Amino acid sequence: MTEQTHLYAVAVGSNRPHGRHGRPPHVVQAAIAELDRQFSLFDASPLLLNPASGGAGRDFANAVAIVESELEPPAMLDALKAIERAFGRRPGKRWGARVLDLDLLAWDGGRWSDRRLTIPHPALEGRAFMLLPLNAIAPHWPLRGSLTAKHLAARLGKRRATH
Ligand code: ADP
Ligand code: MG
Repeated sequence: MTEQTHLYAVAVGSNRPHGRHGRPPHVVQAAIAELDRQFSLFDASPLLLNPASGGAGRDFANAVAIVESELEPPAMLDALKAIERAFGRRPGKRWGARVLDLDLLAWDGGRWSDRRLTIPHPALEGRAFMLLPLNAIAPHWPLRGSLTAKHLAARLGKRRATH
């Protein structure tokens, strides 16, 4: 019997340089290459760049990759955390500078919730750096009921325009 495979949308982010890979955009590209090595890469969005201006603050680079995997969500989270560690991320620092952050945005199994993990990602609907790259490659992915990435990206755009 063949294992059932799943499609996952993985958010890839960096805001700290890596000794070998370099600045955040290169870290994100290297992480996508690693996802391709470990899983089967279906697609990857263009990079979303938010360069720090005037020497203060940090460069941010974000993208979304669609990968196919035989792993169920908990094992998939473990695999992503192992990649974060391989890129030198130290556990614990939640909001600070991180070489690499890999989050599970969505999968083809609908909703998932356990002690460690909630899918779709709880912050997805408010984060343009997750929704816009996802919308660029998978606009019709259903995220909440019949609301797709395209719907939620449009809604976020409207909210931003009026507030
Ligand atoms: P951030 O929220 O900035 O991504 P971390 O990467 O440190 O912070 O993640 C903190 C914890 O969030 C993880 O250890 C994981 O258990 C949990 N988590 C819950 N839902 C998800 C998800 N959809 N994708 C990734 N991590 C998740
Ligand atoms: Mg994370």
